[in-house]
Amino acid sequence: MIVVIENLIGIIWMDTFKISKSQYIRGLQCPKSLWYFTNQPSLCKDQFNGHNTLFGEGIEVGMLAQNYFKNGITINFDLSRISESTANTKDAVKNGCKVIFEATACTKDGVLSRIDILKKVDSSEYWDLMEVKMSTEIKDHHLDDMAFQRYVFLNSGYKIRKSILMYINNTYVRSGELSLNDLFILKDCTDDVLKRLTEVKKTIERLVKTVNSKDEPNIETGNHCKKPFVCEYNAHCSPKVTKNPVNEIFSSSQKLNWLKDNGIKDLKNIPKDFKMTEREAIAVRSVKKNKVHLNKKEIKNFLNKLIFPVYYLDYETFFPAIPLFDNSKPYQQIPFQYSLHIQNEIFGSVKHIEFLHGEKTDPRPSFVKNLINNCGDIGSIIVYNKAFEARINKELGENFPKWNRKLLSISNRMLDLLLPFRSRMIYHPKMRGSASIKKVLPAFVPELNYNDLEISEGTSASLAYLKFIKNLATDEEKNHIFKDLKKYCALDTYAEVILLKFLFESCSSE
Ligand code: SF4
Repeated sequence: MIVVIENLIGIIWMDTFKISKSQYIRGLQCPKSLWYFTNQPSLCKDQFNGHNTLFGEGIEVGMLAQNYFKNGITINFDLSRISESTANTKDAVKNGCKVIFEATACTKDGVLSRIDILKKVDSSEYWDLMEVKMSTEIKDHHLDDMAFQRYVFLNSGYKIRKSILMYINNTYVRSGELSLNDLFILKDCTDDVLKRLTEVKKTIERLVKTVNSKDEPNIETGNHCKKPFVCEYNAHCSPKVTKNPVNEIFSSSQKLNWLKDNGIKDLKNIPKDFKMTEREAIAVRSVKKNKVHLNKKEIKNFLNKLIFPVYYLDYETFFPAIPLFDNSKPYQQIPFQYSLHIQNEIFGSVKHIEFLHGEKTDPRPSFVKNLINNCGDIGSIIVYNKAFEARINKELGENFPKWNRKLLSISNRMLDLLLPFRSRMIYHPKMRGSASIKKVLPAFVPELNYNDLEISEGTSASLAYLKFIKNLATDEEKNHIFKDLKKYCALDTYAEVILLKFLFESCSSE
């Protein structure tokens, strides 16, 4: 809940404070990332972009976690007066407060941490540390986080009993008022935290030394660049040194290591006898010849499954951490929009229908009613990644059993246009190893792409709608959001129309 603020502390207060919790976690993932973060902050310009709504949800989860406990006091935090926050926390303790939110502690040698909830153990001098996460499971880095907090509070004079993680129960189904007892899971992680505690001091010393070094650490990119967080310095650490990088096609570290050891960076230089899967070989051949790979027989088999009229369909969903509606769970994908192009014959004209729920109410009932009406009873329904739309239909059927049969029938009529591209029945060198419609469309139809759209991918669509439904958008913003959402979703289904046409044309040409 307080990561952003701690990041800022990292930038502004390194002279005074040696290390904060988020820097510690960053350094554990990669010391080089921590070095960049503290020594070259300008490299990380976009860290807050596009995530305001997510952070908004983080604040809301934090507030609900505070409501879970009664009569707590909150320690205000001001970047320019950190020592005041630590003193205020001590004062709250002296004054007999039993629950302190955002308690702040700093060791004598400048290691700073805050804890979401510091809770007194009844009739004792001990405290429990409670860390709140938006996550629905305990992750390894949560335990590192908690070990760091425990170290700081212990070394700032607090007696600590348990380290408890408070996270979101994704099996909770809302019914009426939000039930905080059911929404949160409280898990005692003390044993796991204690196992890590012995390493914290040594790790802090190592990381502080790294940060203070004039030279950046010599660390190569690898799997650690993505876990537990996607590192924002990836473009800096692995600048594109060649036109067709081998890692666009190969993911096996064994193959990548062999290629690296042999100085092969570009797909064009892959040796003939290099062992590859059929999918990899198709992509490599396509790049080497700079030619589209086409397996007409397989594509014809795919196209033969089509039944007209054909419906080209795409859903947009949002997934609030806190369930907003009855009969929904935390992070459940709630569909709020679809686009539908309908075509009666091969190469025929298309009619466009769209649905976007414009009220701040549960979109699912109107979504389902309109969908069932618009999709008719016969004809193939083209989707791009059937697993997603079929899963949404399944959940809608479970939530609204009276529509289950019709939703199932829609799913049964679905034909997945992703298949020919993912299985490489057809492959364009410009797909760059991806079958995402965002890569496939401009590869085959360069004049059509998502570049000029304000909303150009699913997560932005979801965050934009969340902003509207949570009353965080003005009327003017709402109009913009809706206009952008309609453009984005319509392009997804229009892309399906164009790509299917392209497949038909490719198979009919000699
Ligand atoms: S991209 Fe990888 S190697 Fe570079 S700083 Fe990030 S985690 Fe470290």
